[in-house]
Amino acid sequence: MLERRKDEQAGRSIVAAVAALGMLAGFGLGTLLAIPLAELHLNKYLSRVAAQETASVKEGRDLLTRLQHSSDPTCSDAELAHFRALVFRSEYLKDAGRMHDGAIDCSATAGRPSHAIGQFKAAATEADGTIAYTNLVPMRDENLERAGFQLGTAFVVFGPRLPEVEGSLPLHLAVSPANQAAPATNNVIRRGNLLVATHCSSTLLTCTTASVSVDEARQAEIGVGAGTAGLGCIAGTLIGFLLSAFRRRHRSMEYQLRRSIEKNELQVVYQPIVNLVDGKIIGAEALARWKDRDGKPVSPDLFIKIAEQHGFVGALTSLVFRRALNECREVLTKIPDFKLDINVTAADLADPAFLPMLDATVDQNKVPTSSVVIEVTESSTANQEVAMEAIRELRRRGHSIYIDDFGTGYSSLSYLLYLSIDRIKIDKSFTRAIGTNAPTLAIIPQIINMARSLNLGIVVEGIETNQQALYFTVNDQTVHGQGFLYSEPLPLHEFLEVLAPRLNRATVEGERQFALAALGASVA
Ligand code: C2E
Ligand code: MG
Ligand code: MG
Repeated sequence: MLERRKDEQAGRSIVAAVAALGMLAGFGLGTLLAIPLAELHLNKYLSRVAAQETASVKEGRDLLTRLQHSSDPTCSDAELAHFRALVFRSEYLKDAGRMHDGAIDCSATAGRPSHAIGQFKAAATEADGTIAYTNLVPMRDENLERAGFQLGTAFVVFGPRLPEVEGSLPLHLAVSPANQAAPATNNVIRRGNLLVATHCSSTLLTCTTASVSVDEARQAEIGVGAGTAGLGCIAGTLIGFLLSAFRRRHRSMEYQLRRSIEKNELQVVYQPIVNLVDGKIIGAEALARWKDRDGKPVSPDLFIKIAEQHGFVGALTSLVFRRALNECREVLTKIPDFKLDINVTAADLADPAFLPMLDATVDQNKVPTSSVVIEVTESSTANQEVAMEAIRELRRRGHSIYIDDFGTGYSSLSYLLYLSIDRIKIDKSFTRAIGTNAPTLAIIPQIINMARSLNLGIVVEGIETNQQALYFTVNDQTVHGQGFLYSEPLPLHEFLEVLAPRLNRATVEGERQFALAALGASVA
């Protein structure tokens, strides 16, 4: 319970730590981005100014052309009404009217003044006679100087409207005649504490300057920083949850397995091993079984690996030995020559506690050492020195040694010469190849010949079909086999039921008949 709470606490800490990291990273990113984002903002704003100018100039020029052909008498009521209607409908024009010699005679906003207004100076004259002004001041306005065009006596004044500033960045805007403005810059420049960008219009002869102070930019982008921090926080939380779930699953598996071993909860099942020639059961392999806390069986390949990785496979091996020898005590003492195979790992062979544990368990159950077979894999003998020493000791005590999953290891066959072993167990991947065109098929005869020349016995794993069984019975060698064709691994009571006749009968013939009867249904 305490462990579980600690584990949950650790999980929460992981989520919090990764979320905080994500937030910091996000905030850092936001702050770093403050200036580039402000520059982007300024540039974007000025391109909107340019687009609006293009549209307003087009509208102004179209209007001037139309006014050239106006049929209304100059500055008549009808013409003034026309001007007003045009300005009212226009998006960009502030005023329209008639002027001559730099003074306004009448306009939509000024009406028909008693005397001409202003002394406006032309800024430029274009080839078609269009005169550009930068300082027209229409009536009823706040004394703002505006750009305008005159063609003939008609004139238009462009509206003061700059596009609205979008977003939270407080831009400072200024429009000035082109000749009084700083030269246009295509990019944002740094002037003191200011970021400045200027756009000049060659047709309106005005320049629009947008600026923002660096401090304001940073301040405004705190929002962005907060946004990216938020995103970072969310991403971090998600990653944290995934990490913690992964860790919890792995840790809880490890934790549950440890607890199950401590509480002796692992089971052992027994898969009969038969003589392929007569079908007689000559032994069995003990295989560990474990269910997690939800009652789901976990594959031994997985939980053995977890125990190996976390350094407690010795406790698991010890449990399997104690349970198997105890459960099979009667079988091993009453049936001569019956062999019980038990799997051990490389770590067991190297563990100084392994042999004493084995000796004690054998003694306690008073079973013959010759009945207890130790299965080691090729890979667990990779550390030859240690493995050879352990194998020597085991054989000295009377145990037999089988090499499990033979053919899947990386060692050369010659290493068998150095290890004194009794049998090889041909891996089920070879058995599966029988009846197919798999290249592994060609290796089987070599393995059989090699075993014969080294005087080693053979056990064939994973026999599922009669064809596979027959393949190994045609030669003169006595071959043992195990597989679903004969029997799946059985829980203890079923295993004992299969062996019951042999436990009760003494004659050799009786043993044979009953063994065949027990397995007869599946042996062809
Ligand atoms: P293994 O020692 O090679 O055991 C044989 C495996 O083949 C067993 O899988 C068995 O159920 C399976 N098998 C038997 N007959 C057939 C068949 O006809 N077809 C197929 N496809 N499979 C068959 P299991 O019980 O899942 O064990 C897997 C491996 O886990 C074992 O392979 C062994 O390496 C390891 N293992 C199991 N129990 C223990 C244990 O107590 N200690 C150690 N160290 N390893 C164990
Ligand atoms: Mg095995
Ligand atoms: Mg095997």
